[in-house]
Amino acid sequence: MKIVKIETHVCNAKMRNWIFVKIITDQPGLHGWGEATLEWHTRGVVGAIEDLSQLLIGEDPTRIEYLWQMMYRQHFWHGNGIVRSTAIAGIDIALWDILGKFLGVPCSKLWGGPVRDHIRTYAHLGGGKMEDFYETSDDDHKRFGELAQEAVEKGYTAFKTMAVPSTLPIEGSRAINYAVNNVAAMREAVGENIDIMVDCHARPSPAMGLKFGKALEPFNLYFYEEPCWPESVEGLSMINKALTTPVATGERLTHLAQFKTLFEARGCEICQLDITHCGGLSEARRIAALAEAHRIALAPHNPQGPISTAASLEFGFSQPSYIICETVTEDVPWRKDIVTEGYTIEPKGQIVFPNTKPGLGIEINEEEIKKYPFKQELLQRAFNEDNSIGDW
Ligand SMILES: [Mg+2]
Repeated sequence: MKIVKIETHVCNAKMRNWIFVKIITDQPGLHGWGEATLEWHTRGVVGAIEDLSQLLIGEDPTRIEYLWQMMYRQHFWHGNGIVRSTAIAGIDIALWDILGKFLGVPCSKLWGGPVRDHIRTYAHLGGGKMEDFYETSDDDHKRFGELAQEAVEKGYTAFKTMAVPSTLPIEGSRAINYAVNNVAAMREAVGENIDIMVDCHARPSPAMGLKFGKALEPFNLYFYEEPCWPESVEGLSMINKALTTPVATGERLTHLAQFKTLFEARGCEICQLDITHCGGLSEARRIAALAEAHRIALAPHNPQGPISTAASLEFGFSQPSYIICETVTEDVPWRKDIVTEGYTIEPKGQIVFPNTKPGLGIEINEEEIKKYPFKQELLQRAFNEDNSIGDW
């Protein structure tokens, strides 16, 4: 079997352009789908996939590790910058889809699974609708409570929220009060037995990340995400060690060695590797093995498109320390029109039962994708009150 073509199909989903990768083989009807979505870098990733495809055309798609090494190591520059690691990921995911289809088994079976009967999922507030998740005003506590209640009414037992405002490196009590009031409103709305996660989007300094984390301890968060920049491993380590609330991070790391540094410093209890950014399922499995040695849990970052979700679920059914799958369902109303999925979701509890179809179990409707061509993503530029540059 040979790879004859690698295509990218870009689908504009408002905040993101989903980049779907289709690898076509010389076997009639046998192709694989991957995803390499990287918001605000769409042109770069599409170009990087075209560059990498020069290495792969004519190769056997079932030699996945060999091809991964080729993509990562050849042409001098290692493939660990975010654009190329994302391009490698999209191709790698599609190769695993091909192998599963070739052998007639779901991908999780290729890795020794399934290790569990079902996977728990969590929602973003508002189902990931940009206006609700990212743009609810920091002082609109009531709205945080309403959205939390909606998530629970939809069957979720866990949800994530951006309840912590952005701040200068050091600020007084106002921002802390906003965060506390927002989380208090959500806790009151949903009760004690629903899991709440707070994502800081890596905006705070380590000092502010610690202050927010301490202030939120009484609410017993399920996890506390990106409390400072990912580059500040000592900051993450300091916060994680100072809190009872487990710290989650890793979505911006692109290769195994970065995770090694993070884990050795005990910078988190939950590893949020992004399968579409860290070099794909091949590298994700290595990162997971390393996390296992540190007894660090896995909850992959997954706010992108439906192929990313299918990949995260297949991975989850093969990984004993996988605890929950991030899902976005309401970013665009036509999400379900472009994909057929092989797994089933139980609405009560929003739990997923394993895919029974070969590979990732998905099929993509290319005609539907064509209705939503590339558009410049809405820019998300953050400025502080004094007009200095902030983190989004
Ligand atoms: Mg995050």
